[in-house]
Amino acid sequence: MSACLLGLCCRYDGQSKSNDQMLRLAEKHELIPICPEQSGGLPTPRPPAEIRDGRVINRLGQDVTAVYEKGAAETLRLYDLLHCDCALLKARSPSCGSETIYDGSFTGTLIPGQGITARLLMQRNIPVFSEESDWGSLLD
Ligand code: SF4
Repeated sequence: MSACLLGLCCRYDGQSKSNDQMLRLAEKHELIPICPEQSGGLPTPRPPAEIRDGRVINRLGQDVTAVYEKGAAETLRLYDLLHCDCALLKARSPSCGSETIYDGSFTGTLIPGQGITARLLMQRNIPVFSEESDWGSLLD
C-alpha cells in the first residue's frame, strides 16, 4: 500500500494522505507500506513531478525518470519478496496513480494514464487498486 495512505509523511510536500477507510483493511489484511519515490532515493520533501511524453520531469525541469523507475523496481521486489496479493496505490501520483495522472503541465490537468510504479505492477498482471477504485471487496 502507498505509505502516504497509511499516514506516513512521505509525500513531496512532507505531508501524508491518511485514509481512515483504508486503514480498516488492517483488520483483515497485513498491509505493507511502501513509498516508491523514497525507495528510489528521493528526499522528502522534494519538488513535485509529473509525467510528460513518457518522462518524469520535476517542477525544476529536471528529468527524474531513472529514480522513479528504481522506486518502481524496488516496489516490485518487495511485492515478490513478501508474496503480496495486490497493490493499493494512491490515485493520480506520477508513481502510484493507476487510472489518471497529471499531464506534465503543472496546471492540475488530468489525463488517462498510470504512474511509473503502478504501470510496472500492472504489466506484471498484479491487481492494482486506488483509494478511489472499487476496493471494498477486500473487506469481505
Ligand atoms: Fe504516496 Fe506513492 Fe507519492 Fe510515495 S510515491 S508519497 S506512496 S503517492
